[in-house]
Amino acid sequence: MLGLRIPTEYGGAGLDDYRFRFIVLEELARAGAASVNAGISLVDDLVGPYLVDLGTDEQKRRWLPGLCAGTTTAAIAMTEPGAGSDLRGIRTRAVRDGDEWVLNGSKTFITNGGHADLVVVVARTGERQLSLFVVEDGMPGFSRGEPLETMGRRAEAVTELFFDHVRVPAANLLGTEGKGMRHLMERLPTERMRSSAGPFWPEPVTAPHSGSDTAHRVPSTTRDTTARPRPS
Ligand SMILES: Cc1cc2nc3c(=O)[nH]c(=O)nc-3n(C[C@H](O)[C@H](O)[C@H](O)COP(=O)(O)OP(=O)(O)OC[C@H]3O[C@@H](n4cnc5c(N)ncnc54)[C@H](O)[C@@H]3O)c2cc1C
Repeated sequence: MLGLRIPTEYGGAGLDDYRFRFIVLEELARAGAASVNAGISLVDDLVGPYLVDLGTDEQKRRWLPGLCAGTTTAAIAMTEPGAGSDLRGIRTRAVRDGDEWVLNGSKTFITNGGHADLVVVVARTGERQLSLFVVEDGMPGFSRGEPLETMGRRAEAVTELFFDHVRVPAANLLGTEGKGMRHLMERLPTERMRSSAGPFWPEPVTAPHSGSDTAHRVPSTTRDTTARPRPS
């Protein structure tokens, strides 16, 4: 079930037809396993495809087998306190220094942020340029906030992430320097499509006096954009 769209040589199933993925999404949603669905989605719909499409051979060999085996967890970090729908507001910055990039900034609302081994981080590398970097757990200067208090799906550990002079090897640049926005725009439609399967609910909940079975389906997931740190 994990890594359906990742080539077999890296441990995936190599299935390009997205309908297979959609069946998995819908069946997990039917079972009410919303957080499991999101975790798998980060491999199959988000980080996996970024690595397959944009990664070097070395990056693919290094990270894809663990994602397919379920031993590596991943996240993608775009959103910032001042950059949500409009990613042009991103202020996290990466500056090249020899064979490394020095990353500074913060992200918020990051699904899997609390436990991801790999985080694809979107950062500004020029006045009008964004680039993608793979930040790995344990890199000095990389830290995480407490899980935010969401209305549900708490296994996803949605958190803030902080980058304080994180030295990211140049080998962890994902895709082409300065083409980060294009890389995102090419892949976000699939992510949005998979989001449509998440709220699927098996038993229609019919409002009183309603003549329709389907018009009042209740989403199994709710996005709480007012989330705040969860009390311990
Ligand atoms: C549970 C959860 C998990 C998340 N996981 C991740 C993740 O893993 N990685 C990640 O990067 N982000 C994640 N996000 C962040 C999510 O992608 C953002 O919340 C989303 O992009 C919207 O940004 P915002 O909350 O800043 O809202 P805003 O951008 O401030 O938008 C607020 C409202 O204004 C509307 N709006 C905005 N701009 C316009 C406009 N120009 N014209 C008309 N209407 C407009 C929007 O449609 C929305 O209704 C997550 C969020 C939640 C709640």
